[in-house]
Amino acid sequence: MSGKTVRSYRYRNITRPVARAGLLLSAGLLFAGAFPTVVHAMPVNVGDAMTAATAYHDHGEYERDFTSVIQEASAWVRLRAAHVSKPALVLDIDETSLSNWPEMAANHFAYFRDGRCDSLPEGPCGVEAWEQSARAKAFPATLALYTQAQEHDVAVFFITGRREREREETARNLEEAGYHNWAGLVLREDGSHTPSASEYKSAARRAIEQKGYHIIANIGDQLSDLAGGHAERGFLLPNPFYRIP
Ligand SMILES: [Mg+2]
Repeated sequence: MSGKTVRSYRYRNITRPVARAGLLLSAGLLFAGAFPTVVHAMPVNVGDAMTAATAYHDHGEYERDFTSVIQEASAWVRLRAAHVSKPALVLDIDETSLSNWPEMAANHFAYFRDGRCDSLPEGPCGVEAWEQSARAKAFPATLALYTQAQEHDVAVFFITGRREREREETARNLEEAGYHNWAGLVLREDGSHTPSASEYKSAARRAIEQKGYHIIANIGDQLSDLAGGHAERGFLLPNPFYRIP
């Protein structure tokens, strides 16, 4: 995360002496008394979770796990492409085809839908402003799979939870990231929160099938990308950074 840690962010607005005094006071409260400290069940600490998620990305495990899933999908696409009529591949966009890491890192995994995004790598960075800037980069593994699928005459469809009002910016971002000549780009209608993500995406896949395509693989980073069938196989990419139910 460009050299910036969660710890430095959380403590950057207080002076070192104050932080040091706080630590000494805490240590005194814990160990100076004659009786044991009472500690009830401790829920997951979000600071620890942020640190772990950042390390997962920065130490290379994220790319390794991500690439491993894409390689399995790639082998499946090669295996199946010649055996079905009108083969198709479905890709989610965010954290599947395009990486939003600069926005996520700047926001320390918080979600700010509104607001500007003009001070990266510092946050906050409004998600809609980030997406409208069309600066997200392709995941190299996914782009390689995309190219390979097209070489095997597999039609590639994007199905995303982004809204129709972002169609132009999303298409431009995909093009500039290296994705060309897709068969379809499906976005959600503006405004509505129903149906659920899984219902919307499975219905979109069903609509592709009704055009005569046979979806041999469906790839996403959320279970809601894959639920509901209408694909031979689903491939779930790692994403410890956010969840879309
Ligand atoms: Mg996604």
